[in-house]
Amino acid sequence: MGRFKLKCLKCGREYGQQYRLTCENDDSFLRADYYEKKLKLRNQPGIGRFHSWLPIQEELTTDAGPITYKSEAFARELGLPNLYIGFSGYWPERGAFVKTCSFKELEAYPIMQYLRENGAKAIVFASAGNTGRAAAHASALTGTDVYIVVPYSGISSIWLPEKPTESIHFISMSPGNDYTDAINLAGRIAKLPGMVSEGGARNVARRDGMGTVMLDAAVTIGKMPDHYFQAVGSGTGGISAWETSLRLRADGRFGQKLPKLQLAQNLPFVPMYNAWKERRREIIPGHDMEDAKKQVEETYATVLTNRTPPYGVTGGLYDALVDTDGIMYAITKEEALEAKALFESLEGIDVLPPSAVATAALLKAVEAGNVGKDETIFLNLAGGGYERLKKDFTLYQIEPVATARNPDVPLEELNILVLSILE
Ligand SMILES: *Cc1c(COP(=O)(O)O)cnc(C)c1O
Ligand SMILES: [Zn+2]
Repeated sequence: MGRFKLKCLKCGREYGQQYRLTCENDDSFLRADYYEKKLKLRNQPGIGRFHSWLPIQEELTTDAGPITYKSEAFARELGLPNLYIGFSGYWPERGAFVKTCSFKELEAYPIMQYLRENGAKAIVFASAGNTGRAAAHASALTGTDVYIVVPYSGISSIWLPEKPTESIHFISMSPGNDYTDAINLAGRIAKLPGMVSEGGARNVARRDGMGTVMLDAAVTIGKMPDHYFQAVGSGTGGISAWETSLRLRADGRFGQKLPKLQLAQNLPFVPMYNAWKERRREIIPGHDMEDAKKQVEETYATVLTNRTPPYGVTGGLYDALVDTDGIMYAITKEEALEAKALFESLEGIDVLPPSAVATAALLKAVEAGNVGKDETIFLNLAGGGYERLKKDFTLYQIEPVATARNPDVPLEELNILVLSILE
């Protein structure tokens, strides 16, 4: 029985629910149109609860899921009585069990399940770090073969809270390669027989997995928030929050006003901030990210450094910002560190660098009057609890099976051909 159909946002052409990333007529995003128009919560401990709007057949049973709670100490400090925190990470005292400590794990399970249900044997991921760790963990738990390509700066992020399994194939890259190089190499590997690309932001399972953060917020608060804060690199989280809000609006029980996207990038690498400042749909590389590779190296929150984000494409972040009358912020490392220290001391949990950037954006928004004191504000802390996790678990570093010199390296050098031919 079908649960949804894929629909092109530009030409309206409909496809079935088979895995597909592009329309045959244009390059627009496809979106999942679910037959369940009203959210019906399932009796599952984690994201499986939101099965209504996940593009998979079988319910997920993982205990990993987003949590939402009403802030007290930090809210008081900011003078915001209706501040809610969304936390994707490890914080057992609050019921948060995302053991790879970021919302990338909320994407990993639906992506892998959707692809498995479509016959995939091995799935290729490109990652700045957090996605790769999430995919590795999901692979260890489900046995699905994954190939994970990570730039030099992300190698230390590829650890697991359990012993690595044979199903995980980790390919690292030498210094000088960034996240976008990893995306390009992963794209080549995905063309090998038996391999399927996880598809990036075009994969509806990725977006709707991330969208569970907004769903959890709306269900916990009782309505959609007025404002949604998040740090973005690809912008997929922002797009997901917007798409999920559209579904919640159509549901009818969670309000009619779309949350205003208030998104942050980390200086000096802020291409989407620069383009949005001028209300431009196109990112102009020489203008919006001059000397991009150097900027990327200087950026504190490295997971926010995607040089080819789905910004201008139909259904991408530009459209999401237009539709929600969004705002973008450029945050310095110092502002992020200050916000991190303040948040952690008041709320009692550690957060990852991008979450510090998001928190700094909220501080700026309060100062600039971009939020009303009594409005309902949702701060999506998409990663955290790493220090907390280390108290409960032994972490295992995953060893790469090969290191790529650059994205064009002959694939024979990577020690993976044999594996792919065996599939
Ligand atoms: C990936 C990531 C982000 C940025 O997500 P987008 O894909 O740009 O929405 C923010 N915070 C954390 C913790 C992340 O892992
Ligand atoms: Zn189309």
